[in-house]
Amino acid sequence: MTSSVRSSDLQAPYRLRLPGPTAVPQRVLQATAGPVVDHRGAEFRTLLGDLETLVRPLFGTTNPVLFFAASGTGMMEAALVNVLAPGERLLVAVNGQFGERFAEIGRALGAVVDVIEVPWDKPVTAADVAPWLSRASYRALAVVHNESSTGMVADLPGIGALLREHDTLLVVDSISGLGGLELRQDEWGLDVVISGSQKALMCPPGGGLATVSDKARAVIDRDDRMPRYYWDFRTALVAAAKVETSFTAPVSLLAGMREALTMIHEEGYANTLARHRRLAGALRTGCAALGLAPFGEPSAWSSTVVVAHVPEPLKGGDLVRYLNEHHRTAIAGARNRLQDRVVRIGTMGQIDAGTILTDLLYLEEALVALGVPVTRGAGVAAATRYLVEEATA
Ligand SMILES: *Cc1c(COP(=O)(O)O)cnc(C)c1O
Repeated sequence: MTSSVRSSDLQAPYRLRLPGPTAVPQRVLQATAGPVVDHRGAEFRTLLGDLETLVRPLFGTTNPVLFFAASGTGMMEAALVNVLAPGERLLVAVNGQFGERFAEIGRALGAVVDVIEVPWDKPVTAADVAPWLSRASYRALAVVHNESSTGMVADLPGIGALLREHDTLLVVDSISGLGGLELRQDEWGLDVVISGSQKALMCPPGGGLATVSDKARAVIDRDDRMPRYYWDFRTALVAAAKVETSFTAPVSLLAGMREALTMIHEEGYANTLARHRRLAGALRTGCAALGLAPFGEPSAWSSTVVVAHVPEPLKGGDLVRYLNEHHRTAIAGARNRLQDRVVRIGTMGQIDAGTILTDLLYLEEALVALGVPVTRGAGVAAATRYLVEEATA
């Protein structure tokens, strides 16, 4: 094998290029390293107030924002225990692994779950949902904003408009969307939106967020919902109104989150979103030039994750392993029905053109080493052309 670049020889920095967790900027890491403050003291109250002000524009809401120590899955469960009662009906739109998880959590909790099966290479749309609403009385519809397993973005404006005329609540997992994809909770009529710290918010894992509409709150406030204690949004909402959290908050993580949100607003949130879109487009174009064709319907391609087909007979897992071993670069394969058929690379957080051009250089190295015919330099060249055209468009 002839390799022009061997990052392992250079002791190159570890490159976390997953669709979450994502690389945490130095500024954010440093903010997490400050003193742990009293979670009932003035410093923390200021921090929590700042966080709410800084994150609301990303959700597109004036609703209260709740903060929990939790992974994203914890917030999915939290959303469901608060809106559902045992035996109530939950509708879940599934076009990937995280949609499947929503359905599994619903079943585990004792809800009656109906699944709208959407092809994994297509987005969830209002047309998929509409026929179901007349079949039964659903307490909630759960939808994944950005299906990280497939890179398909749901049509939330369309689905939100459809549900406005129904009692059914719209519960949205925007764990890999918030901060990297447009989200307008109030305008689109989304009732509960949940997210996590470790994706486009470029923080360490372990921070969960939730926002709650008035329509959702009327349901959440009922005493007949699922058994809940730590996850109880009623107490969390009362605490939030006093700029507090119900229990000990992950104060260090939240100090980092304030820094990350400050960075986003310094860039200008619209610019942040445009950068995500541009870099995802460039990476996708570069991957295609290397023979890794983009997965799924182009109109629904995500700005926060690039999902690409792996040409047979190569296995996605081999590509992932090669990049880890030779370039200290962590990309993702699939742990579902797409196993070994796709690879996934995050385009979230603190990334720039250099990040994705490096990805493409290393991908090319890996493909050559694994015996896949590629035109040397094709990926970097195609991505560069894309970026130049975008800049001059
Ligand atoms: C990452 C992710 C989750 C799960 O989050 P964990 O923090 O791993 O529990 C759920 N939904 C989506 C869309 C995700 O991207």
